[in-house]
Amino acid sequence: MASWVPVAKDSDFTIYNLPFGVFQNKRLSPRVGMAIGDKIVDLSVLYEEGFFSELSQLPHDIFLRDALNDFIGLGKPVTRKVREIVQNLLKEENDQLREHTCRGKAMVNRNEAQMMLPVKVGDYTDFYSSMEHATNVGTMFRDPNNALLPNWKHLPVGYHGRASSIIPSGVPIYRPKGQFKDPNKEQPEFGPSRRLDFELEMAFITGGPTKMGDSIPTEDAEDYIFGMVLFNDWSARDIQAWEYVPLGPFLGKSFASSISPWVVTLEALEPFRQAGPKQDPEVLPYLQCKKDHAFDIQLEVYIQPDGLKASKVCTSNFKYMYWNIAQQLAHHTVNGCNINVGDMMASGTISGPTEDSYGSMLELAWKGTKPVKLEEGGERKFIEDGDTVIMKGYAEKEGIRVGFGEVASKVLPAK
Ligand code: MN
Repeated sequence: MASWVPVAKDSDFTIYNLPFGVFQNKRLSPRVGMAIGDKIVDLSVLYEEGFFSELSQLPHDIFLRDALNDFIGLGKPVTRKVREIVQNLLKEENDQLREHTCRGKAMVNRNEAQMMLPVKVGDYTDFYSSMEHATNVGTMFRDPNNALLPNWKHLPVGYHGRASSIIPSGVPIYRPKGQFKDPNKEQPEFGPSRRLDFELEMAFITGGPTKMGDSIPTEDAEDYIFGMVLFNDWSARDIQAWEYVPLGPFLGKSFASSISPWVVTLEALEPFRQAGPKQDPEVLPYLQCKKDHAFDIQLEVYIQPDGLKASKVCTSNFKYMYWNIAQQLAHHTVNGCNINVGDMMASGTISGPTEDSYGSMLELAWKGTKPVKLEEGGERKFIEDGDTVIMKGYAEKEGIRVGFGEVASKVLPAK
């Protein structure tokens, strides 16, 4: 498949991808678009021109809203059809849009657009599903011989996070302040975090809603998953370490989480589906899967000190996840907890088996004992003021490339 829209060889936004996002620019109010190459297709223009006329259930202003929630809520048969129609219109051999008078209006320059949060996030959940990450953290903080707690291989461990502070790529964050306690001191202290960290994660965005009391089985879970984004789950390790007993993460996590603005659909990720790691011991029946739910998505993290060159500090892959997205959603709802359109469920830090594939500074610099060297700007144990953390993700196979773009956020000094 090729498009009449120029797409660079290394572009994440090929005709195979066509992710959904919400954008605005100097002239245009917030609206829904799809990315291809350096362009955004303004779906509201295509609607106006009647390209979606076969979808009579589409409300007339569905693409002129400032979030994808209502669109996602129409259900997968509708959202999938919209993507198919646009994909057809963009094919090299199709001149319907290419030769149409609306073409100039429908194709917006991506570099002039401001990307917004793609969904209004009602609830945010963070899992802890990478065995390598959980093992590393357990080794550092508890016992190398019993790094995984007894429940870990029996259920996808998670916690309810904070939705209000989820922000799109490009929005800077302030270094959080809070309480922490030096093990060599008697009393806790208060101040800006000294151990600010990123967590390399991916998150899925749900469709729905479901009713209270209902559960989603693993085989239906993907019907409720619209798509995925890159997710930086900012973490203040010193605040986290002092506060987390006994109820888990709180202020060490809730100050910010950054996401990539383009939602890549599960349809686009289909070519990269594969088996996940073998689960041993066997999981309970409600967590067993009939098909593969892992995806081969290459992930990278860069640190860019203010005004200097960016250094790659991590190369990982989404396929390493021990617990997959279907199991996470099945587990989340097995107690009858309802979900809504636009809920965001993050994977947990995605660490791989090698030292350069760890998805946080905590692990890369091994609790501050092995500082990470940067190409410019010295070395890092944790993230410093002025640093920009950039996460990228893409899948590539047999000439098909589907990517997420990036989530990049700069750290400003504490307010
Ligand atoms: Mn996390």
